[in-house]
Amino acid sequence: MFWADRHAEEIKKRFGKRTSPLIVRDEKTASGRVHIGSMRGVAIHGTMAEVLAADGVLATFLYEINDFDPMDGIPSELDSDVWAEHLGKPLCRVPSPDGKAKNFAEYYADEFKGVIAEAGFKPEYYHSSELYTSGKMNGVIRDALDAADRIRAIYKEVSGSVKKSDWLPISVLCEQCGKIGTTEAHNWDGEKVSYICTKGPGGSVGCQHKGSVAPWDGAAKLPWKVEWPAKWKVVGVDIEGAGKDHSTKGGAREVSDTIAREVFGIESPYDIPYEFFLDRNGKKMSSSAGRGASSREIADNFSPTILRLALIGKEPAVQVSIDPSGELLALLYDWHDRIASAYWDKTDDNEARLFEVLYHGAPPQKIYYPRFSTVTFVAQMQHLNIEEEFKGLKESVLTAEEKKELQERIVYARRWLERYAPDKYRFVLAKDAIPDGVKDFSDTQKKALRSVLTFVEQNKSLIGADFHAKLHEIKEQIGIAPKELFSALYIAFLGRDSGPQAGWFLSTIDRDFLIARLKEVS
Ligand SMILES: [Zn+2]
Repeated sequence: MFWADRHAEEIKKRFGKRTSPLIVRDEKTASGRVHIGSMRGVAIHGTMAEVLAADGVLATFLYEINDFDPMDGIPSELDSDVWAEHLGKPLCRVPSPDGKAKNFAEYYADEFKGVIAEAGFKPEYYHSSELYTSGKMNGVIRDALDAADRIRAIYKEVSGSVKKSDWLPISVLCEQCGKIGTTEAHNWDGEKVSYICTKGPGGSVGCQHKGSVAPWDGAAKLPWKVEWPAKWKVVGVDIEGAGKDHSTKGGAREVSDTIAREVFGIESPYDIPYEFFLDRNGKKMSSSAGRGASSREIADNFSPTILRLALIGKEPAVQVSIDPSGELLALLYDWHDRIASAYWDKTDDNEARLFEVLYHGAPPQKIYYPRFSTVTFVAQMQHLNIEEEFKGLKESVLTAEEKKELQERIVYARRWLERYAPDKYRFVLAKDAIPDGVKDFSDTQKKALRSVLTFVEQNKSLIGADFHAKLHEIKEQIGIAPKELFSALYIAFLGRDSGPQAGWFLSTIDRDFLIARLKEVS
């Protein structure tokens, strides 16, 4: 069963019939270019909302741009001398790096929203600053301050983290310097909290101001393990998963679940714990072959549909590679074409269902998909007319949709070749010199190549399918192992022992060169 369908069954059991939409929520702190890892949450929550809605269960996917957290570091692309003065301020009060976006958080959120839209997810966005300044958080802030003792105890019991006895679960916005990451609060008298502006994470420095404020309407914020369940209550969240790093025993999710229950009197949302994205070495995705791993940088390597497949295709609890620096793109295209066949030919229910969800419940009509590895090969053979080659492979004229798909695959194949494609996908016709490997050909191999030569000489025009059949005939006649025959052909023309489908490959080579080289090597 497709993972989202399985969760949908559980969700229906838990919530029963509801007249108001179920709220599915996720969030991201917009403190810099958003890492591709954050797309996993978007994909899981976005897919859940879509699958539930298609199943007749009202569901709204809310995505929070967390812009009220303090700036606790300076993104590497910015000048730290210029930006250091803003450390500790709420992200929505720091200017945009380009001077155009509304503020720092919006600048980075905009780029991320572009990737989210591209992958086909349509959340409704809101900002954490609005939750605070509108006064919606006032009630939970009072509950948290009143229960400060209990919250300190929960931190200790669940996660082993010990807070000072006067610690309060609140960060005040300093009235003098406007920083929120630098203040330490103490003494809640039921109306106001006292604070001192000292220092905060990431080297943020406060102004030493001492004051006392009523913590309402954006004058203060909750620390995140308290804020998380507080938002569940205020926003009315029903479904919210969490990444593996938060889902461990004693981790943030368990602390938040406990605070939700004991302090805010709510049951925590339906959880879907999910795994990291990996690079091609099986490590948590960081950067990729010297390039960045922001959502934009990674997404640029995949067509929107292929990106979506990488994001939603596997179980949330499974680690998934999203590293474009290896073979992934070719594997994803093959996977895409396989689930398409499963859907059209009704061969596998799970794969068919994935294809359906990939295309938002309305998959395309059956068309011919050009195999990506072949597209990659053709894209490297300057002398070939790409559409003509695929017309030949398909054995009929390409439709408008097929041409469009082919053109898109060419764009991504070229980009991949330029940046990442492993050597096994790189081909250069060995026109200038006879490859070294030729001198190791056995007599049987040479005999087979002479038969190939005879076939070419006898046929003025060469068609891939005929060539393919002939190669198998030669193989039988001469009694040569397939690998022996094919590797000889690849070595003779590409200088390597593997390549694309041999019959078709030979049919793409200029006939005079084909004859000349076969003579030289046999
Ligand atoms: Zn201050």
